[in-house]
Amino acid sequence: MKLLEDKILKEGKVLEGDILKVDGFLNHRLDVALIADLGADIAREFAESGANLILTVEASGISLAFAAGEKMSLPVLVAKKHRSLNISEGVYAAPVFSFTHKTENTVVVSKEYLSAADKVLIVDDFLASGNAAMGLLSLVEQAGAKAVGFVAAIEKMHQGGRALIEAKGVKVYSLACIKEMHPGDIKFN
Ligand code: 5GP
Repeated sequence: MKLLEDKILKEGKVLEGDILKVDGFLNHRLDVALIADLGADIAREFAESGANLILTVEASGISLAFAAGEKMSLPVLVAKKHRSLNISEGVYAAPVFSFTHKTENTVVVSKEYLSAADKVLIVDDFLASGNAAMGLLSLVEQAGAKAVGFVAAIEKMHQGGRALIEAKGVKVYSLACIKEMHPGDIKFN
C-alpha cells in the first residue's frame, strides 16, 4: 500500500538487529488517519472471508486490529502476554518468542471468547520470523476454530515468517512488504 510505504520511507528508521522503528506512527505515537486507512484496506481485502472475529496480541497489534474491526463491524479479541507458563484452566495458551525483546512470553485468550464456531482474521503490526503468528494460530487451532487469514501492517520478507503461515493453508496479506532493509535504505517488494 503506497500510503504506508511512503510513510515508512519518510519516518521509518532501520536499527541494529534487523529492526524497523516505526513508533512515530504505528506503535507508540499513532497516526490515527493512516491506521484507519489501513483498516479500510484490510476490510476490503477480507470482505468475503466470512470472518466473524479479529484476533491480535497486545500491545502493538491493537490499533490496526481495532481499525479493521471497526470497518468490518467485528469484535477484536486481544491475546494477553504473560511472562510465566503458570496459566489458569480457562484459557488457551501458546509460547511466543519475542523477536524484539528476545524473551519468551505466553500468549493467552479466554476460552469464553474463542470457540470452534469462529472464523478468525489474525492481525498484527509486523510479520518477521512468524513466531507471533504461529502462537496466535495455535490459539485458534486449540479452540478448533478456523483462521481465514493473517494480516501484518509491515512484513519483513527476508525473515521468512510468511512460509510458516502459508504452510498451514492460511492466506497472508501484508500492507507493506519489505524485501531488504539497511540503515537509510529500505526496498519494497
Ligand atoms: P515475529 O514473531 O514474526 O518474528 O515478529 C513479530 C512481532 O515482533 C510483532 O508482533 C512485532 O511487535 C515485533 N517485531 C518484529 N519485527 C519488528 C520490527 O522490525 N520493528 C518493530 N517495531 N517490531 C517488530
